[in-house]
Amino acid sequence: MPAVIFKNMRIVVRDRKTPYIVAGPCSVESLEQMEAAGKALALLPQVGMIRCGVWKPRTRPGGFEGYGEQALQWIAGCRGEVDKVRESIGGERLHYCCEVALPEHVELALRYGMDAVWIGARSTANPFVVQELTAALRGTGLSVLVKNAVSPDVRLWMGAIERCRQAGVEDVCAVHRGFDVYRNGQYRNSPLWEVPIELRRLMPEIPILCDPSHIAGRREPIAALSQTALDLGFDGLMIETHPDPERALTDAGQQITPSELGRLIEGLVMRSTEGVAASEELRLLREQIDHLDREALQLLAARMEVARRIATVKQEGNMSVFQPKRWDAVLRQRMETARELGLSEECVKGIFEKVHAESVRVQEDVIGGDRHV
Ligand code: PEP
Ligand code: MN
Repeated sequence: MPAVIFKNMRIVVRDRKTPYIVAGPCSVESLEQMEAAGKALALLPQVGMIRCGVWKPRTRPGGFEGYGEQALQWIAGCRGEVDKVRESIGGERLHYCCEVALPEHVELALRYGMDAVWIGARSTANPFVVQELTAALRGTGLSVLVKNAVSPDVRLWMGAIERCRQAGVEDVCAVHRGFDVYRNGQYRNSPLWEVPIELRRLMPEIPILCDPSHIAGRREPIAALSQTALDLGFDGLMIETHPDPERALTDAGQQITPSELGRLIEGLVMRSTEGVAASEELRLLREQIDHLDREALQLLAARMEVARRIATVKQEGNMSVFQPKRWDAVLRQRMETARELGLSEECVKGIFEKVHAESVRVQEDVIGGDRHV
């Protein structure tokens, strides 16, 4: 488990007793807004870094696109006052980060004294952009937060982190902000926790923060998502915070006030992910899980064997592998069973879509194999 989030800036996650918090507005809107946000956040000791959007990547043109260099001037203009508030509570100096999407953004971020920059989800999705950004970051000493790509491809995320490292960036941290998938369900971006879990497995030395604001897209689920992230061993959170969220120029529905953030942090529970306290009971329960998983896989293998036999029957009857009516009936029936068993319908649906896709593939294989005889 990484203990240090940003080594160069000497920010240490203290024994996982408190999560590292990055907070601040989606977009910088004025000197007054930044000063109000900064001063209120400076009073929360767990906040180590202020995030502030300077250039806003809009999916479609025409929206507010950020104040750019003017915003950087506002940030620099209120830092002195914000630092004084932080000193008054005896806390560590606050750091600042903004998003960069073009090499010239990196240059400006450096000129106006940013400590870190983040690479946004749309940029991480494009290795050409990441390559240009990391070339611009070389030798700057800036720390980098790498958001996951909009699509759930862990390799794009890793690729951006690797490019940062190749450019000599020492402090790299990952930020999980959810994924834009075909069905996002109740959230703006699906969390798909298995992707950051896979990143942790493949790159255990990289700290991971969760951005529940961009996952949720609205205020209400932010606290619960934050707790889930900490339970999964994330090192901290990035939460959009605005002095007057209702009037925010961007992402108004998902920003919270600094005092709401204070209450949210108070409510968080840090638990051990190291298993030091693993009891005998936990060991036995895990044995049961291992056993049940084996049984589930044996059943899956048996199901695929039946699918292979079905393929032969369909072929003899000149039927196509995919039978939409049958699939519709299967899905409905499985969802009903899921309800009866108290399982999440969304989860069961996802599992059966995967099982069905594999079954189709296996049947195509049988028929294809036959054709080639
Ligand atoms: C943001 O953090 O304001 C932002 C635009 O994030 P993302 O790149 O995750 O969409
Ligand atoms: Mn935002």
